[in-house]
Amino acid sequence: MSLPSIVQIGAPVLRGAAHDVAPERILTQEFQDLVKTMIDVMRQAPGVGLAAPQIGIPLRLIVLEDREEFLTRLSPDELRDRERVPFSTRVFVNPVLTLVGDETAVFFEGCLSVSGYMALVERRLEVEVSGLDEHANRQTWRVRGWPARILQHEIDHIGGTLYIDRMKTRSFTTVEQAKEHYGDKSVTEIVRSLKLES
Ligand code: ZN
Repeated sequence: MSLPSIVQIGAPVLRGAAHDVAPERILTQEFQDLVKTMIDVMRQAPGVGLAAPQIGIPLRLIVLEDREEFLTRLSPDELRDRERVPFSTRVFVNPVLTLVGDETAVFFEGCLSVSGYMALVERRLEVEVSGLDEHANRQTWRVRGWPARILQHEIDHIGGTLYIDRMKTRSFTTVEQAKEHYGDKSVTEIVRSLKLES
């Protein structure tokens, strides 16, 4: 069976507020199949997160994971700066995000629905998310660093917000240009060269 394609920016479904999932629907075969499809689409992309509107379904459902193999592309310094750690697949239904503390971090971020581009985005360093899991059980996850960034990005999606709404606009770049010009620079250097306020 072929997987649904990832909806690209401009589609209204990426800009609307997604709907709550009725808890009794979570254990239906149809919903379980949807969760599996989303995980498959995320892995095929490949990406570290996906929200249901990204496959055209306006429901408050996100999946995320960060795999060991993705982390091998970053240097130890990059991993440490980003507080990036692998985590196994998480599914959140009707997630509610709470920002924790006031520490923030600025890093490049991309989106499978804005294919080929990236930009610097300031995000809260620590968050707590609560909601239901794929078995309809309540769950809460308090997390910081890169997983917290992924969560904020995906939960934005179900509210119709994209990273480009939050980005430092002068840092917006194609992935190719970023590789060519920013590959060996720290975020601090990039911020300075683009004359962004820090
Ligand atoms: Zn995205």
